[in-house]
Amino acid sequence: MVKEYDISKPNDIRKFIRELENEMDHQKTMGINQMTFDINCPECGTLINVKNGLNRYSSCNEQFNFNLDFSL
Ligand SMILES: [Zn+2]
Repeated sequence: MVKEYDISKPNDIRKFIRELENEMDHQKTMGINQMTFDINCPECGTLINVKNGLNRYSSCNEQFNFNLDFSL
């Protein structure tokens, strides 16, 4: 499953989290910290692969914290 999301848009974040929850159902044995996700860098728009926690964009060297809250 490869989908692109624009994390600067609240709508996309909601879709993204919904997809993640579906994905979690299928991958219960896999911890959230081992999962990676393809998103578009909000700085330069390049498709990047991120993990839960602190990430660094390889494209533009921006740093950001990608925190997923599944207690919704
Ligand atoms: Zn970037």
